[in-house]
Amino acid sequence: MGIAVGIDLGTTNSCVAVVQAQRARVVEDAEGKRIQPSVISFHPGGATLAGQKAKDRLVIDPKNTIYSFKRLLGRKILSEEMQNITDEFPYSVMEGPDGIPVIQARGQELSLPEISAIMLKYLREMCTQTLGVDIDELVITVPANFNDVQRSSTKVAARIAGFNVLRILNEPTAAALAYGFGGQLTEKIAVYDFGGGTFDITIIELMDDIFEVLSTAGETFLGGDDFDEKIVEEMRRQFLFMHRYDLGEDPIAMQRVRTVAERIKCQLSNLDEVEATLREIAYGPGGVAIDFSFKITRTKFESMIEPLVDKSIATCQESLKLAKLDASSLDSLILVGGSTRIPLVRKKVKEFFNKEPRTEINPDEVVAIGAAIHAFSLTGEELPEDLPAPVEPGSGVDSADMLEPVRTSAPMAKPTGARPPPPPIDSTQRIPKLQKTIMGLPAPLESDEPSHEDPGGDLPDVKSQAPPPVIEMEPDPPPVIEMAPESPPPPPVIPSKKAPPPPPVIEMEPDPPPPPIDLVAGEDRVLPKDEKGSFSIPMVSTAAASTLLLDVTPRGLGVATAGGYCDQIIERNAAIPVEQSRLFSTSTDNQVAVAINIFQGESRRVEQNTLLGQVHLSGLRPAQRGEVKIKVVFEIDTDGILGVSAVNEESGEAQDTRIQLLGGLNEDQVNALVSKYSKS
Ligand code: AMP
Repeated sequence: MGIAVGIDLGTTNSCVAVVQAQRARVVEDAEGKRIQPSVISFHPGGATLAGQKAKDRLVIDPKNTIYSFKRLLGRKILSEEMQNITDEFPYSVMEGPDGIPVIQARGQELSLPEISAIMLKYLREMCTQTLGVDIDELVITVPANFNDVQRSSTKVAARIAGFNVLRILNEPTAAALAYGFGGQLTEKIAVYDFGGGTFDITIIELMDDIFEVLSTAGETFLGGDDFDEKIVEEMRRQFLFMHRYDLGEDPIAMQRVRTVAERIKCQLSNLDEVEATLREIAYGPGGVAIDFSFKITRTKFESMIEPLVDKSIATCQESLKLAKLDASSLDSLILVGGSTRIPLVRKKVKEFFNKEPRTEINPDEVVAIGAAIHAFSLTGEELPEDLPAPVEPGSGVDSADMLEPVRTSAPMAKPTGARPPPPPIDSTQRIPKLQKTIMGLPAPLESDEPSHEDPGGDLPDVKSQAPPPVIEMEPDPPPVIEMAPESPPPPPVIPSKKAPPPPPVIEMEPDPPPPPIDLVAGEDRVLPKDEKGSFSIPMVSTAAASTLLLDVTPRGLGVATAGGYCDQIIERNAAIPVEQSRLFSTSTDNQVAVAINIFQGESRRVEQNTLLGQVHLSGLRPAQRGEVKIKVVFEIDTDGILGVSAVNEESGEAQDTRIQLLGGLNEDQVNALVSKYSKS
């Protein structure tokens, strides 16, 4: 085995870490950025962009710029959740073969594993460029609540990107490793993980080098994106009221609104009130440009998101119940995910657990750090301190033709020459084993100083000093829009699409020119030095090899039986790896084959559970119903992936028992993609 990295492929952002000089460190891109937006954009010039360059195109090319794709991975197109979210996306999600969702962009149809693979390949190339070595093994993290199809799809994505997956690790378990690894702690901890698209709560017991998950619960459709959407709805509502025009009719305007809404949300973590101005968001009669000023207080925002935050707290209650614990028996509370920077979230979670959260660990990096530690524990190999020079793009490495920039856009991040030196190793930080998780960490973040990577490509920089609550960024022009509700509504607005055509586009670029800059008044905080800079990580050394991770399966798994019932074979929260079996019998006379439908969920009724896939068993002896017995075996491996076999008890034969997962790609499709991307 070679050196392996840990990758947190997040809904909003991704982060890569690797062990070097006995510490896990974040792999930065050539510009020194530690987290990369999980965004892919298909450029009109033919290139596929990923990361920040892709995110920069969200506003100018929303139809071909794919974000939050992790929310779609491993889902069936017709599921209720999918219907709800695909309406929100400006890009097109269609039904592909076997009911799997495919994304249509720039004339291509791409499956979700393929989109995820493009992001992973980008991260892999980033490692090659900044570390100077080719890395092809990884530990990849997934939300604890990911089901079998989602896990398998993640694994497939990594395979397409040219990675050998050493292990799929649950995100909270990774966070616990980063927190407690090597500390010889005996503690029960709660990992509260609120990201962009998912929420998970996991209770973990640390006993020296044993990390045992006691329970996990979560929502795969609850995250910061939903908070953004609340602000978006409010902006749309106000604009509709003022101008009788729904901004939702213009995808470019909507993307600008979304970008600004996220920005506003992040600033409200810091400020009591935020005001934003969107210039020329639509055009009135005669093609007159209309600006849109929007103001919102933190109190109002909190009232909008409170039900969603409460949903996360109810899930915390559920996880404690599953673990048969109460909040007072927990020793520590760890916060993971960007949405935990929201003061209301912190307040509620602190009240519920009656505990001050540990905020010293950077919530954006902690999962990748834990994954890197685990990768090291599996390979025993760390990144050499004395590395070869980074590989120049185009020098023959499996490099970024696929991600090559085109003339009209700024170039992709490239190494600037000499490899950045490894972070200095301060010998004073090599602390005794027992103290290192506490002493090695940076100073605690102030809870009222949330941090955020700038989400908007075309947003202005704002000052870093203590802010007055609201700043008018452009005071000169009188307000174009009457905010007062009692004023009579103005004449209807003409959508920006019908406005005078933009100046002709120069060169090859068929996209419209970038829209005017959207302003958000208020101040960004400067990240505390410790959070921005290198995050001190527990040392790994040989202790890594002795760590034992004991995880659980997040949902019950069973099979459908006659009458629409679901018989559980593996219960929710069972420790994994696990193997369980049950005997079933034929339900009709002379039945020679059975189709075993596999469901996830705890309900006795199949319709309330989620169908995962099917296994066929044929060649049964014709006999009276109930006579022929079939043993169904469920096996979950350490990656949380389910294997199912059905055995004819009479013959002892297991026939035709390959599980066909719904929402996943078949082996031929995967192989075709592996070969497509190994060439690019
Ligand atoms: P993650 O999935 O952990 O990368 O979290 C991303 C989510 O955190 C996105 O919805 C971000 O908008 C959100 N986020 C990041 N920083 C902040 C902040 N300072 N305040 C509120 N939400 C934030």
